[in-house]
Amino acid sequence: MERVRCLIIGSGPAGYTAAIYTGRANISPVLYEGLQAGGQLTTTTEVENFPGFPEGVTGPQLMENMRSQAMKFGADIRMGIVTKVDFNQRPFKIEIDEEKELLADTVIIATGASAKYLGLDDEKKYAGMGVSACATCDGFFYRNKTVAVVGGGDTACEEATYLAGLARKVYLLVRKPYLRASKIMQDRVMGNDKIEVLFEHNAVGLYGDNGVEGVHVVRRKGEADETRYDLPIDGFFLAIGHRPNTEVFAPFIDCDETGYIITKDGTPRTNVAGVFAAGDVADTQYRQAVTAAGSGCKAAIEVERYLVENGL
Ligand code: NDP
Repeated sequence: MERVRCLIIGSGPAGYTAAIYTGRANISPVLYEGLQAGGQLTTTTEVENFPGFPEGVTGPQLMENMRSQAMKFGADIRMGIVTKVDFNQRPFKIEIDEEKELLADTVIIATGASAKYLGLDDEKKYAGMGVSACATCDGFFYRNKTVAVVGGGDTACEEATYLAGLARKVYLLVRKPYLRASKIMQDRVMGNDKIEVLFEHNAVGLYGDNGVEGVHVVRRKGEADETRYDLPIDGFFLAIGHRPNTEVFAPFIDCDETGYIITKDGTPRTNVAGVFAAGDVADTQYRQAVTAAGSGCKAAIEVERYLVENGL
């Protein structure tokens, strides 16, 4: 069976950065790209906040750059999805695509988190044309425009507040008659005169000939006084939570109640020595390309130390 010194799972900024560092350290990393090669950034257009690109760079280009940089240092980048792991045995045993198996002395989990969508066909239809799940990434394009944010948690309040600093008007579409967000975030939203909170509102579709021009909403869905109307907007932001991609690791790796990997004391170490987590899969707070890249670097340095300490 093939044995590798470092297996990196995931191909976002965390995974590729870990591959660049472990590659340069002569560890000959093997990286499996997963379902969406390049990760979440491949679904955004312009990235203007990654340091080193004063003119901006497209998400796919940035990821392609990181990928070729990793390959330059000898990373073996492969297509495939990790379908099973056994972290009880050493070296760790990993199954790829439900068929191939390999052994790994160390593992870096960088499988990311996926934004949740409502599941409307229109979200796909207008993907990259007015639909976004990341205000920090795309808010800039809505300066002096009107946007809607869906959700009633801390993320939704934070995104609405951020967007209010750019947009002319922000609607917050909340399906319940109250916000779930922390009191401080609620106060921030309620005290912002650019934000209008529409309680008991569900988005059921989008319209527009050239990108999003509005959202079909239902007020008090299922009640006797249910009403439907159209709200003109330029941008539609989902903020109904993220789902970390941790299912296959959960039997071995400690995760919090929402599935995020728990790491130790600000390091990428998990509860299993030799298995590290980097990027959004272990980050409920920041979820930025640059923070993911930073944690991929940390994980690679941890791998290097672990291999030396264990004579591997
Ligand atoms: P949450 O799960 O806390 O909130 C999700 C929100 O989306 C809820 O209001 C929920 O409604 C709504 N929602 C879910 N599904 C749908 C749907 N299909 N249609 C309409 N609305 C829907 O997720 P968050 O991402 O907001 O937060 C995740 C965690 O991260 C939380 O623990 C949060 O506190 C934390 N966080 C903290 C921040 C901070 O402290 N600055 C910033 C961001 C996040 P309902 O209430 O009806 O279920």
